[in-house]
Amino acid sequence: MYCPKCGEQNPEGSNFCQKCGASLTAQPAPLPQSSPLPEVERTSGLAIASLVLGILGIFIGPLAILAIIFGAVAIAQTRKDPGLKGKGIALAGLVCGIVGLGLWVVALVWFGLIFLWLFQITSMPTVFS
Ligand SMILES: [Zn+2]
Repeated sequence: MYCPKCGEQNPEGSNFCQKCGASLTAQPAPLPQSSPLPEVERTSGLAIASLVLGILGIFIGPLAILAIIFGAVAIAQTRKDPGLKGKGIALAGLVCGIVGLGLWVVALVWFGLIFLWLFQITSMPTVFS
């Protein structure tokens, strides 16, 4: 076995190096621990995207659907990866998306009813002619 300090070959089972006296039983000095990367607060990009789309979705209905999808995916991401922040943001985006979609559906129904009403009015002359 070789001395970890000086490299001298020593008989198997020696406890100390014959040349420099270094302990041979001790584990070689551990490599200097690479300083762990500072725990950067990572925020799920999808969560932010979900919130932005959720707010936009209140005005532009189809974006609300994307907000719901992104929000749900982002929440799943933050559950899987505890270091990933943005669960609250994702939840807000999801809720905004649902509200936006709800408003949009209500608006579509109203537009549909108004359209039907207008259609009936405009088709009346032909009915009564
Ligand atoms: Zn030695």
